[in-house]
Amino acid sequence: MCICINCNYVKKCSIYRLIEKHHQQFDINSQKIEKLFIPYSFVININILSKSESRLDWDVVECVSFIEAPGKWLHK
Ligand code: SF4
Repeated sequence: MCICINCNYVKKCSIYRLIEKHHQQFDINSQKIEKLFIPYSFVININILSKSESRLDWDVVECVSFIEAPGKWLHK
């Protein structure tokens, strides 16, 4: 599971935007140009879900910039 969903920076983090793009949850029309947070020293784990369909699952599993904020990704 991606740790970003419980991180205080999830709404403005450049790396989480990248993860969303790979999960195809990124709505480019709803995004305005803004300064994004650049986290320090993170690890992305990429799992192959289906070789034939080229489906990958991207998760941030470690990040020095992580600040715990349970359920932060659910808040507007
Ligand atoms: S855990 Fe790191 S990569 Fe994920 S949202 Fe927080 S700062 Fe960004």
